Amino acid sequence: MKIPPMNLKLYNDMFKDDILERMKTILDQNSFILGPEVKELEANFKETYNVPFSIGVNSGTDALLLALKALNIGPGDEVITVPFTFIATVDVIIRLGATPVFIDIEADTFNMDVSQLEAAITDKTKAIVPVHLYGLAANMTDIMAIAEKHELAVIEDAAQAQGAKWDGKFVGSFGDFAAFSFYPTKNLGGIGDGGMILSTLETEAGDVVKMRDHGRSEGYTFPLIGYNSRLSSFQAAGLNVKMKHLPEMLAARKKIAAIYDEGLSDVAQIQCPVVPEKAEHSYNQYSILAENRDELRAFLSEQGVGTMLYYPGPLHLQDCLQHLGYKEGSFPVSEKTCEKVLSLPMFFGLKDSEQSYIIEKIKEFYKG
Ligand SMILES: *Cc1c(COP(=O)(O)O)cnc(C)c1O
Repeated sequence: MKIPPMNLKLYNDMFKDDILERMKTILDQNSFILGPEVKELEANFKETYNVPFSIGVNSGTDALLLALKALNIGPGDEVITVPFTFIATVDVIIRLGATPVFIDIEADTFNMDVSQLEAAITDKTKAIVPVHLYGLAANMTDIMAIAEKHELAVIEDAAQAQGAKWDGKFVGSFGDFAAFSFYPTKNLGGIGDGGMILSTLETEAGDVVKMRDHGRSEGYTFPLIGYNSRLSSFQAAGLNVKMKHLPEMLAARKKIAAIYDEGLSDVAQIQCPVVPEKAEHSYNQYSILAENRDELRAFLSEQGVGTMLYYPGPLHLQDCLQHLGYKEGSFPVSEKTCEKVLSLPMFFGLKDSEQSYIIEKIKEFYKG
């Protein structure tokens, strides 16, 4: 059997005709830039997430960047986040001249260890960026309480967490800002790059609307310096089609996760995803901790099963972040997790028989 770690074909084929039809309308109307499709997607997000402001942008990365920028975060400011995430969470902070300050993750949820948060706050701290990694919510109850106490902004990196909940509420609706990504492999995956910013702050959200379009207020009037971070109408068209089916897509992910949970529950060498009581996981990834991870991965590969390493190394050990002054041992849980974590195939259309095969092969490996 040959099972790739990710296969988007079924997901995208299912919506192809509807997407093409909308694309034809865009071509007929020449409504390429910030047209009706973008407005429709923004309205869909506002309604789904029940937040007052939603702004479509060209990527999840620029969603984070513009949120930080709208909060006036820049040189001399510190932003607290985690080293166990994708580089985009952190490179935006540096690009604005601010300093990322890392705290470690929890060994079981892979999310920000809130017990370390207050100790990392200084008088330079401006914001906290929790990441809802793999589609599992960070502890937003505690993060929001600490942010409120210290008057810090919260920007949720919800790039991987479309549809995830904490305490009955969608992630992305807690912070001052939230950033979503439509990178094709995300839960609401586009047919290229795209992103969405949610916000509860009227003035700052207004600045984001301007800054995604060169800082323009109208016509050729530019009150701010901005970027070209507009969401393409073609992307928005595809996402509007797919968003209608998001609940089914999330249910399919949950079903896949439940089969892995059940099938792997008696493998002592593996820790399946741990979901806190308040969380509803959206399973962008199904990531396990595995003894002898590299050997297991090689064995599965020989058996035709593709897996992924999200992430093979923590960010504080990347060359581009050496100036921050962290070293090996600075964040032991993140470092250890990078050595043991393994993401199993998780995508719409993964068959029960394929999952049975994957589970069987994992068991075979440990029985040796
Ligand atoms: C994908 C991702 C991003 C960036 O999103 P893009 O749309 O690819 O720019 C940011 N943070 C995390 C955690 C991600 O997984």
